[in-house]
Formats: sequence, C-alpha cells, structure tokens
Amino acid sequence: MQQVSPLKRNRYGRFNSNWKGGKPYTDHQGYIRIYIPLHYKASSNGYVHEHIVIAEKTLGKKLPEKAVVHHYAGYELDGKYKIVICEDKGYHNFLHKRMRALKKCGHPSWRRCRICGKWDKPENLYIRPDNKNGEQAFHRICKNAYARKRYHFKKGG
Ligand SMILES: [Zn+2]
Ligand SMILES: [Zn+2]
Repeated sequence: MQQVSPLKRNRYGRFNSNWKGGKPYTDHQGYIRIYIPLHYKASSNGYVHEHIVIAEKTLGKKLPEKAVVHHYAGYELDGKYKIVICEDKGYHNFLHKRMRALKKCGHPSWRRCRICGKWDKPENLYIRPDNKNGEQAFHRICKNAYARKRYHFKKGG
C-alpha cells in the first residue's frame, strides 16, 4: 500500500466530514454533485458539479481555464441538462444580467434605472461604469431631478 498524506486523504473524501459515501447528492444551491475524487475540479470531499462533467463530456475535453458553465434551472423538470459554456466570468455575468432583465421586464437588453427603478431601453438611459456593481444605468431626467433634490436638501439642511 502506498502512504497517503493526511492532506491527500482529505482530498480523496473518505476522511472528510462532508463524505457522502460516493453517491450523487444535491447541494444547498440545488446543484447535483457526483463523486469523482480524481477530477481536477473536485472539491475537498471529492465531488464535482455534474453540469461541469456534462459540459466536458460534450466538449470532449477539459474546459478552458477561465470558462464558466452556466447551468439552467429546469433539470428537475425534464431530466435534461441545459448548459452554456461561457468563455469567462464576465460573459457569465453578462448572461445573468440578460436573464434577470428578461425575467423582470421581458426584454433581455433593457436596463433598470437606478433612480426611478423602471426598466427601459439602453438608448434611453445613461450607463456609466461603476467599480462596485459593474455599471450604473439611469435616466438623465431622473438624475437631474435627483441632483436638484439633493441640492435643495443640502441648502435646507
Ligand atoms: Zn449561471
Ligand atoms: Zn429613471
């Protein structure tokens, strides 16, 4: 028998407190995880997200390093995986932004004004980059009204 270091043992799962006996299970985020301890993306308990394994099977190779697999909900309904392999995190975020917009207002490309909260066509909005939230979109009218209100508030207060 080969000596297995404590670290490695952990990686192989059996000695990990999250050990699930090698059976597939659904994690708290609703993702199905399958036991492949030698997979390069296996977590410390030896499990890999099933949609990653499916994506790699579909590709016929390892995922590109920065790729993110988007996994559509719906697997539970028809047992079929719907996945999109995104080239990087940025594209994955972009996809989610569009999905959110589609769900909220029916138009994937529309954006929400940060001030009045209404969804609108991007050409009706002023969109500027923002470090924290990626970007900020607002109507010029809303922005002006907001600035005026703030000014009055400052003057009055
Ligand atoms: Zn996603
Ligand atoms: Zn607005």
